[in-house]
Amino acid sequence: MRTSLCVSCRTALAPGEACDTCGEKRVVSLTDPEGRARAFRASHVEEHVAGVRPPSTFRRLAFMAFVALVLMAALLGTVWAMLHYGAFGFIGGVVAGGIVVLFAVLSPMMGDSEKGSGEEEIFVRRVGTTYGPWPRQELARVTGQIRTRHPAAAVLVELSLSQGEVTLRDAVSHGFTVEIDGGRSVVVPASRIRIAGKFSLENLPRREVREHLALLDPAQGRSTETPFPFDRAQTLHLRDGDRITLAAAGFDESWDGDSGYRVGRGVTLRPRGLVWVLPA
Ligand SMILES: [Zn+2]
Repeated sequence: MRTSLCVSCRTALAPGEACDTCGEKRVVSLTDPEGRARAFRASHVEEHVAGVRPPSTFRRLAFMAFVALVLMAALLGTVWAMLHYGAFGFIGGVVAGGIVVLFAVLSPMMGDSEKGSGEEEIFVRRVGTTYGPWPRQELARVTGQIRTRHPAAAVLVELSLSQGEVTLRDAVSHGFTVEIDGGRSVVVPASRIRIAGKFSLENLPRREVREHLALLDPAQGRSTETPFPFDRAQTLHLRDGDRITLAAAGFDESWDGDSGYRVGRGVTLRPRGLVWVLPA
């Protein structure tokens, strides 16, 4: 059962397990309400955007009164100029009045658009990780063919957002053997693994996503706040006969016979630590 999550690389982990790439600090338990809330916050980021404040009624009335006053003054000025200087005064008055009115109208409007400030609007943006884990160079590698009696030797479920950010990575082995050259075989136990690299994934139907998430996140269904937002759900089933590369800290020889599906009478190898499955 994998009910813990590394909120950094979005990997599903077994309870109490530390993330092999990010350590312990970023791991939360999804069965704990506080841990689940933290997982939700890791996949939903609030964005504060300054909205444009519409002018208040008082401000609008005051502005209209101001414009009316300026118009009145311009009109009176023009009449006065006309009485004293005739047609010449009238034209001068209209031009001068027009400039004054134009300034009066434009100046508060400019002030408004420059400020552009108003109440903040909060948007919730879904986020994932763009980080793709990859084994360190010093891991030992073997390549061979999967042998298993299970319908699937290993399964990967990956949820991602439309922009490509990953919100969940869950990879598990059901226990399988890999036949490598020289008649030797590697026994991969049933456990969490990492599946990385350019495998071609298939789309996973929504119903199956819900069923899968119910295993990792028991509170799913009781809460509208999912720690796993997604636009795309994909899966990979590794099956009997598939050729893959295994990477691990080392492969130790083991002679104990109880190793599941045995191929021939060759030496059985056991991977040390976390197993990485990569394309061959
Ligand atoms: Zn991690």
